[in-house]
Amino acid sequence: MDKAFEDILFQPELGREDIKVLLAAQGERKDRLLRRGLEVKLAHLDNYVHLRGLIEFGNVCEKNCLYCGLRTGNDKVDRYCLSDEEVLSCARLAHELGYGSVALQSGERTDAGFIDRIERLVREIKKIDGGSLGITLSLGEQSEETYRRWFEAGAHRYLLRIESSTEELYYKIHPRNDKHSFRRRLDCLESLKSIGYQTGTGVMVGLPFQTLDQLADDLLFFKRMDVAMVGLGPYIPHPDTPLYRHRDLIPSAVERMDMTLKMIATLRLMMPEINMVAATANQTIDPQGREKAIAAGANVIMPNLTPGEYRESYFIYPDKACVKDQPDQCQTCLDIRLAAIGHRILYNAWGDSVAFTKKRG
Ligand code: SAM
Ligand code: SF4
Repeated sequence: MDKAFEDILFQPELGREDIKVLLAAQGERKDRLLRRGLEVKLAHLDNYVHLRGLIEFGNVCEKNCLYCGLRTGNDKVDRYCLSDEEVLSCARLAHELGYGSVALQSGERTDAGFIDRIERLVREIKKIDGGSLGITLSLGEQSEETYRRWFEAGAHRYLLRIESSTEELYYKIHPRNDKHSFRRRLDCLESLKSIGYQTGTGVMVGLPFQTLDQLADDLLFFKRMDVAMVGLGPYIPHPDTPLYRHRDLIPSAVERMDMTLKMIATLRLMMPEINMVAATANQTIDPQGREKAIAAGANVIMPNLTPGEYRESYFIYPDKACVKDQPDQCQTCLDIRLAAIGHRILYNAWGDSVAFTKKRG
């Protein structure tokens, strides 16, 4: 392996140019980077994988992101919302399966009924086995007061992807209006951090118009924001969205997958103790995608607990992985797949971000 590249892999701080060299790596250099991502993860976090039982409890959304199938302007979607009892039974199932944590995700809604309901649901989930389940929320942009209410009810992690940290690209993939403001997204991330959430963010990789410089800037943004968690995944074009017309501009599925893995490995070098999700989108474009993400430095998987009849309506992008699997099948499959790459699931634990916990003291 060439010394110049090897030196970068061991540098204590990576600058923008170093990151670009890593993200441009091909062949042997790429393989070495991914192995280094794994080595750093094992040294800091061992070979554990944490699970979050994903409950996609509704697909009604007020926003119109140009890439997402749930956008309000897409009238081909069958809109649904799980009942309280359905959400709680998913949470109880997560507990029975030993998942340790659940993640509640939905389209973005800011009406008072929705806000009250989430607060109530979080409190109810906290009653399961004396608060043994950790709770991640991924419910988009909300007021600071709302975030605080949900935090006080018992949610302690929040995932809000910046989608792209470059303002110019942000507005190529979102409408430019009050409902889709880059500034507001940044403010939301700041609010979440100041309230005390383990705050997670992330981007889509392989978007039309996206450059290597912008991807390097995304990694520097995560570092500068000092986030506790990151969820990175390939962009998958959805035919019923406006961004689809630019699909000829995006890299191939193999290239998007490769770049996602290089982003994960490089970020692991930069932030060795954060939690990093192996996104379902990885598995959608590559059957081994989640395992490859784990083997490049990710340490969290979010198995889908959404009841089968609703899963196909949470149609963010086409051919979503595991849409037909049952939770028990999913678990056995995960255990086997992870053991094959030398990893093990840490059951019955919240699996908090080590970076966050250490900072808290
Ligand atoms: N509404 C919440 C939000 O936007 O934060 C949570 C649900 S949203 C469906 C979760 C994530 O899905 C988004 O942050 C986005 O990165 C991802 N997503 C949406 N459309 C996608 C696509 N076409 N390809 C890949 N990821 C996509
Ligand atoms: Fe709604 Fe989230 Fe999809 Fe945007 S990414 S349209 S906020 S569900």
